[in-house]
Amino acid sequence: MATKPFRTRLLGQFIGLSITIGLLITLAVLFATERNVQARVEQQMLVGEKVLQALIETRQNLLTGSAQILTSDFGFKKAVAVGDRATTESALSNQARRIGADLMLLLSLEGDIMARDSNTAIDSQQMPPLANMALSKGKVAGFSRIGDDLYQVIVLPVKAPTPIALTVVGFRVDQELAEKLKELTNLDIAFITHASRDEVTASTLDESQVLKADNEIHGLSFFSQRVSHIKSSSEFDLLWGGSMDVVLLSHLDSVYRDFDRLSLQIVGTALVAVLLSLILAAISSKRLVEPVSKLASGARRIARGHYEEPVEADSEVLELSELSQAINGMQDEIRQREEKILYQANHDHLTGLLLSAKLLQSLRGELSNLREFALLTIGSPQLRDINNAFGHEVGDACLVEVAKRLEPFTASQSHACRIRNYFKLRIDDVSNLETLMHDVIATLEMPYWVQGLRLQMNFNIGVAHYPDQADDADSVWRRSNMALDTATSEQLKIGYYRDGEDQKRTARVELINDLRKQLQNKEQGEVFMAYQPKRRLDDNTVSHAEALIRWVHPELGFVSPEDFIPLAEQTGLINELSRWVVSQVAAQIARWRSQGIRMSVAINLSAEDLFNAETRLHIEKVLHDFDLEPSAISFEVTESAVIRDNGDERNLIGDLRDKGFSIAVDDFGTGYSSLEQLKKVPVSHLKIDKSFVLQLAQNREDQIIVRSTIELAHQLGLEVIAEGVEDAQSEQLLKEYGCDWVQGYYLAKPMNADDFNEWLASHNETA
Ligand code: C2E
Ligand code: MG
Ligand code: MG
Repeated sequence: MATKPFRTRLLGQFIGLSITIGLLITLAVLFATERNVQARVEQQMLVGEKVLQALIETRQNLLTGSAQILTSDFGFKKAVAVGDRATTESALSNQARRIGADLMLLLSLEGDIMARDSNTAIDSQQMPPLANMALSKGKVAGFSRIGDDLYQVIVLPVKAPTPIALTVVGFRVDQELAEKLKELTNLDIAFITHASRDEVTASTLDESQVLKADNEIHGLSFFSQRVSHIKSSSEFDLLWGGSMDVVLLSHLDSVYRDFDRLSLQIVGTALVAVLLSLILAAISSKRLVEPVSKLASGARRIARGHYEEPVEADSEVLELSELSQAINGMQDEIRQREEKILYQANHDHLTGLLLSAKLLQSLRGELSNLREFALLTIGSPQLRDINNAFGHEVGDACLVEVAKRLEPFTASQSHACRIRNYFKLRIDDVSNLETLMHDVIATLEMPYWVQGLRLQMNFNIGVAHYPDQADDADSVWRRSNMALDTATSEQLKIGYYRDGEDQKRTARVELINDLRKQLQNKEQGEVFMAYQPKRRLDDNTVSHAEALIRWVHPELGFVSPEDFIPLAEQTGLINELSRWVVSQVAAQIARWRSQGIRMSVAINLSAEDLFNAETRLHIEKVLHDFDLEPSAISFEVTESAVIRDNGDERNLIGDLRDKGFSIAVDDFGTGYSSLEQLKKVPVSHLKIDKSFVLQLAQNREDQIIVRSTIELAHQLGLEVIAEGVEDAQSEQLLKEYGCDWVQGYYLAKPMNADDFNEWLASHNETA
């Protein structure tokens, strides 16, 4: 459907309505007026008819009275009886004068004129047979044609005592009478006789007009076929044959004129009314449409995202002001929602702190206005372990609590952010930075109570200073991270960024690229596997070894796995490395077998490997390729990785155990787990971390820990390996504690395959 502007539509409807109403009213008034005028004409005719009737009667009475006076006058009778013509005629003339009669004569009983008044010029031949009629009836009254004229007459006999003669008295029905009647009734009049032919005897109008006149008042139409006159006629019988119509004619010209003038006024008034209502419609539609347009432009402004100004309709129309209120309400809600969305987009949902990208962005933006500031990166080695050990809910609660404790140290909430298990804090007032950082650590290291658990965490802070240590936001950011790494690795509470660290980082990137190349190199090169034997304590046999990766860099020399393994983990190279190790180890076991040596080798896996399906498939494939059974290989997984893997459906540990591999928990005692938790993980061996073993012979505490760990592990059905056994006393102690395996420099250092073979041969000889 085509859309039209509201105003056009509204105006169109107004125009249509007012024209229709105007037309209806005009027509109704015109028809009512027509009926009114008709009634007036009708009334006029009726009055005319009554006046005519009265006049005829009055004349009749006058004639009768005059004739009676004559016929009853003794002197007149005597003069008639004796034939005194002079006296008779004088009496007739007197009487005629007195009533103004046009006809006054005396007839003999035979109908001959005996005497007449002086004005009556009629002879006996012109007289109709009135005498006989009067003698038989006693009296004759009515209209009669006498001679050339029409008369209203009365004929009375003169009795002495029997009739001796007849008096005839009459008024002429002529033009004079017609004019007189017109004067009285204000109507035109015509006397028409119908005898041998129709004849207009007297009329105030032309004969043609009389005949054209319409006699139907009710059918009179003012709108079409107008006639000039309307008539009503009264019929009278003539005294001997024929009849006479007295026709009253109402001239319609003035009526039509009045009607037309009135119609014109009505139509004019209606037109003015329509015009006025149009102007009114235009004004009121403008009043309606303008606020609606304002509201529409307000709504468009809101759609463009400008919520500052309220939308005003400026209208007294209730619905429009309600609509403007509703739009304003909507605007407020949209603004609030947008603010909320914006807040959520910029803030960490957990802690309510700024998102790290936003903090960095704000640093970049504000840098030119900042004189100096320090950027602190705060971390705790336990935060991640807590997540693994007690689940995300506890971990999240700790993060929230840490954020809350940091609050008093920030100038504004927008100066702090969280990145996973780390926090960053921008400190603008660096005058007492050292004290402040110690306060932060003291506050953060207070015990945490979460879900009934009392948790203790250690925190480290890395700090970089702008502009002393970095002159752009990204560098400050990166260098405060490095400072934390330094603090953590060197076990310092506070680590300051050291000049040149960044460059070291770059060197590390180069290192990892070199490592990648080495792993892809098919030839035996800088990277190779070393093997460290394990001895069973009950029979002193060596049938197991741990594979440890070695890298001798052409420029850097020996690079410790402690340095490049974490790098490989951080850069995603670890899966490729682990697969490489699996291949190398399997090939070596096969080689040993061909040399008659049966050796089961443990391979270290990283936490990242546990979720990598490709690694899983690779292990199966390699075993198949070298025709090895699962007992030829075992795996070592660090304590924290085992706990992290706990309960995960993609769990590689469970899978490997199902396939018949042994799994050892490496570095046990360094993480945040308990034996209780290990119970749930399908591991078979437990490797006590070397930090508890290295000084075992000297350290009482280590002895207690190691001893109880061995006992508990046995209760859980796990075999125990002690790594880092450097002396005979320690080995002896371990033997006493019931430890199953030992590994360490005391037995042998990790060796390349050739050295291992040599060592094994000499070991077997001495054993
Ligand atoms: P780890 O798995 O706990 O390996 C034992 C580490 O202790 C080895 O260090 C070994 O040389 C050292 N060690 C053994 N006996 C003694 C001793 O009596 N005294 C002392 N002071 N140290 C001893 P290494 O080879 O430097 O390896 C360090 C760590 O690097 C390993 O700890 C392991 O976590 C990781 N690593 C080594 N090779 C690989 C590998 O192929 N893959 C993976 N994912 N990690 C590896
Ligand atoms: Mg190991
Ligand atoms: Mg270890």
